[in-house]
Amino acid sequence: MESCWQNGQRPEYLKTKENEEKTMALRTIRIMGDEVLTKTCREVTKVTPRISNLIDDMLETMYDACGVGLAAPQVGVLRRIVVIDVGEGPIVMINPVILETAGSQTGDEGCLSLPGKAGQVTRPNYVKARAFDENLEEYEIEGEGLLARAICHELDHLDGHMYVEKVEGEIHDVQYADPEDEEDWEEIDEEA
Ligand SMILES: [Zn+2]
Repeated sequence: MESCWQNGQRPEYLKTKENEEKTMALRTIRIMGDEVLTKTCREVTKVTPRISNLIDDMLETMYDACGVGLAAPQVGVLRRIVVIDVGEGPIVMINPVILETAGSQTGDEGCLSLPGKAGQVTRPNYVKARAFDENLEEYEIEGEGLLARAICHELDHLDGHMYVEKVEGEIHDVQYADPEDEEDWEEIDEEA
């Protein structure tokens, strides 16, 4: 999912990673129309170094693109892996499954595979899911609001679905920065 990041501040997660001197690389985000986004992803049975690098790269790519979530097919890899950060730290979900949903929310949703656009989508307001973390340890997660929306959105990608299939009404252009943020940026520009 797409949304802008804490006034352009680099998230804590990446600072930590830099200290560890891990090599991360940005991957190219596939844009709607790319066939890879319509395919069903395969489960992950083992976290190989290759999968581990993929997860790091997905996080880096998501933060770089101001996203709150990214699924492996969005970087061209047909594996059941998603990363999410709604501002509370990174969540890695391998082979995720939704166990329970409740309520509903209707609001604008965007996607890094369709940049600069959004549309109204109704999603559950509460989601309980089960997944494996980057060490392949199983866990359960509960989310409300944006987190519930992000989990549903990203899991749809693993089965080749985009939010546009669920949009009520028109898909419209979006501008992420609000006027206050723009003022902040102008000040930063003057200092630079
Ligand atoms: Zn998406």
